[in-house]
Amino acid sequence: MSGVVLQKVVKRFGEAEVIHGVDLTIEDGEFCVFVGPSGCGKSTLLRMVAGLEDTSGGSIRIGARDVTQVDPSERGVAMVFQTYALYPHMTVAENMGFGLKMTGHPAQEISRKVAEAARILKLGDLLSRKPKALSGGQRQRVAIGRAIVRGPEVFLFDEPLSNLDAELRVEMRVEIARLHREIGATMIYVTHDQVEAMTLADKIVVLRKGRVEQVGKPLELYHDPDNRFVAGFIGSPAMNFVAATVVSAGLAEAPGLGGTVPTAAHLPAAGSKVEVGLRPQHLRITGGETHRVEMTEALGGVSFIHVSAATGEKLVIEAKGDVTPAIGTMVGLAYEAGDALFFAADGQRLR
Ligand code: ADP
Ligand code: MG
Repeated sequence: MSGVVLQKVVKRFGEAEVIHGVDLTIEDGEFCVFVGPSGCGKSTLLRMVAGLEDTSGGSIRIGARDVTQVDPSERGVAMVFQTYALYPHMTVAENMGFGLKMTGHPAQEISRKVAEAARILKLGDLLSRKPKALSGGQRQRVAIGRAIVRGPEVFLFDEPLSNLDAELRVEMRVEIARLHREIGATMIYVTHDQVEAMTLADKIVVLRKGRVEQVGKPLELYHDPDNRFVAGFIGSPAMNFVAATVVSAGLAEAPGLGGTVPTAAHLPAAGSKVEVGLRPQHLRITGGETHRVEMTEALGGVSFIHVSAATGEKLVIEAKGDVTPAIGTMVGLAYEAGDALFFAADGQRLR
């Protein structure tokens, strides 16, 4: 068993507290993704699990062991970084086996483990090459191979695909998902890219400023966010938000949407300020003259139409196919009231 449990985990760098008491359970064999904007504490938290940063408060368990004070080499984890840091003078096989060689493993065992990792990663034909003769994606695969060879209970990835171009990133994402299915180990994966998070994770942990905003399955976070931050962070293009005022139980006035929005959510007292969130794909253009077209982005299969309301609020509408109304055209907006999410003034979701 090698789940990971964080309890009230705190990290301070000198006076500055950057992780403010994180509680989190990652199940054995789970693919867990930490996602959030740059600087929110993803790497710090991952490095604390690895033991590369010490923990200022709280505890970290891996499997049955409390590892809070345990040396990184004794934690049963292997980390893959954004930069591959391969030894240029060693072959692929030597790079992958180097860690085991340093810890005195017999040559036969090392070559067996390297061969197995090479099979999993389809690196078999490249074992005698030097890193300079490899593409970026192949180098990152060698770096992952180095982790596999160590046979860790928990794999830790810190933005491993950020240095790759867009096409390779998609390819490696598929590879990493396959790797997880094949070896079934617990994996914690850090990224700022919500698409990577959505496609890889069993469980996503959304972090912001050193705190957990929400934990859930990808589509749970998408369809049922707990707060405005998660609603705005998950999904691309981002959810639209417009200001609204509660009219009565179950009804709010949202001038930026051109009228009132009925809802089954429990709204605060009449007169309270709330926000309405609607995803671009839940908005449609209709006849009407409430919104001005500011810009269109036609991507072929789908078009994004940027409009502004009389209030100055900007919204994005997603339309199927080529929809390119001229800039300056006045249009109306339609949506199903049931797709509108409501948020209190403090950002908490109103359900
Ligand atoms: P992320 O990986 O989400 O981009 P980090 O975990 O790297 O964020 O950083 C979280 C916060 O901790 C940031 O405010 C960063 O400036 C701070 N931080 C990270 N490492 C150190 C350090 N060694 N000394 C001081 N502050 C640090
Ligand atoms: Mg980072």
